[in-house]
Amino acid sequence: MADKVIIKLVCGDCKEQNYVLSRGKKSQGASGGEKLQLKKFCSRCRKHTLHKEKR
Ligand SMILES: [Zn+2]
Repeated sequence: MADKVIIKLVCGDCKEQNYVLSRGKKSQGASGGEKLQLKKFCSRCRKHTLHKEKR
């Protein structure tokens, strides 16, 4: 059984989707409202920006 959630990381500045992650569903605790935010390089902005998860 593939019980995985695909998480797309979009740039907070230009909304470009730059990264895709998969995460096991069970790693999400009871507090499901928590959103992932990572600082990653955006090729469109050509700098590191805050990327937010989008499902
Ligand atoms: Zn960007």
